[in-house]
Amino acid sequence: MHEMTVAESLLTIILEEAAKHNAKPIGVKISCGTLNSINDEALNFAWEAITKETPCEGSSLKIEHKPLQGFCKKCNQKFIIEFSSPKCSKCNSEDFEMMADAPLLLEEIEFQTD
Ligand SMILES: [Zn+2]
Repeated sequence: MHEMTVAESLLTIILEEAAKHNAKPIGVKISCGTLNSINDEALNFAWEAITKETPCEGSSLKIEHKPLQGFCKKCNQKFIIEFSSPKCSKCNSEDFEMMADAPLLLEEIEFQTD
């Protein structure tokens, strides 16, 4: 299961950060692309299971899905590709290059402060 692998690598990184800051993580924000997308429900489930009895237990996980972008060769603009009608949103040209899909990124870790 893809999401379990993602949860495992996130946990490793976050536990290292938590040790550095000597603080309990309470919220995690990640982002991912469109082609190699993450299932929110599956990842939340994996996260809950894997963080049990770790300092991350009870932390919330937010997943931002970044849209796939195209670069129009006609008007030289970046635009968001709609899969239902893949064309430039500005000039309607179908002559565009697909940009690289957004990678899976750990955007932010929120630590408990007191
Ligand atoms: Zn265009």
